[in-house]
Amino acid sequence: MLPETIASLSKAELHLHLEGSIQPSTVCALAARHGLEVTEQEVRRRYAYQNFLEFLETFKWVTSFLREPNDYALVTRDLAEYLLSQRVVYAEITISIGVMLLRKQRAEANFEAILAAAESFLSRGLRMNWIFDAVRQFGAEAAMRVLDAAKQCASKSIVAFGIGGDELSVPTRELRPVYDQAAALGLHRLIHAGEVGGPEKLREAIELLGVERIGHGIAAMNDPALMDLLADRRIPLEVCPQSNVRTGALALQLRRDEASIDKHPLPALFRHGIPIVLSTDDPAMFHTTLVQEYEHAQQLGMTENELLRLAQMSFDFAFERQHSRTAG
Ligand SMILES: [Zn+2]
Repeated sequence: MLPETIASLSKAELHLHLEGSIQPSTVCALAARHGLEVTEQEVRRRYAYQNFLEFLETFKWVTSFLREPNDYALVTRDLAEYLLSQRVVYAEITISIGVMLLRKQRAEANFEAILAAAESFLSRGLRMNWIFDAVRQFGAEAAMRVLDAAKQCASKSIVAFGIGGDELSVPTRELRPVYDQAAALGLHRLIHAGEVGGPEKLREAIELLGVERIGHGIAAMNDPALMDLLADRRIPLEVCPQSNVRTGALALQLRRDEASIDKHPLPALFRHGIPIVLSTDDPAMFHTTLVQEYEHAQQLGMTENELLRLAQMSFDFAFERQHSRTAG
């Protein structure tokens, strides 16, 4: 498929963090708003990681400049412009409500600003829904407060609840009451699992938490029975190839010191019949775009027909089911 054909495809993106989409120049602008001086050079230095925990540190650092509703409005507009540049017409965007609450911010006020900023992009052909995200290492109680915030915000555009962060921290069973509560609130449920953790993290998330999509889940490549289960139950993996290279998750799952993108299991997972939604995770922090991820899929040997099926799957497995792909 020609690069311009990939670029012009209508796309949906389902695994994308608002805070991971902040370009270096915007980080500087945010810092300046709060009287702090940060150079683009420093941001670029911090946007390079040796391992997953270093990435989490940078994520924490960037979010420290998000202090007021206006800051969230700014990064939402930036993200929306980026999505339009990728021909994304529908996105489910993860917001780290857990971090807002940790910093004692009013999540409702921030979310209101995000919604207002997003609304102006509807007329330009971009629809955005939201996933309220808790941070695993902050514990189950803090995650429950993220659900309280979702209830307070009472917006139909909050489609799901998820948990990210360090999947090796809090045991999965401790999160069960939180996911039961999310279901009771009518939210779809997802989680980051099998990114740096083993296949058992995916199994636990499916069996104990009833998750409907899994962030990353590339650990499945080491467990053929789990691959069968994902395919049989039609549980999608949100696969973000460049992210897995940049955080070292791919090398870890391959049990190597280093791994480049050509070793990514995307084609193997897809051809096993597992639903895949191709995503960027944190496009600014991982120096990628959604168009580039489709190009990666092509470099990995996926055919034109497979790329078209990939693009369609991101619409099919969106939580807003009534949304259908537009032509083009
Ligand atoms: Zn993620």
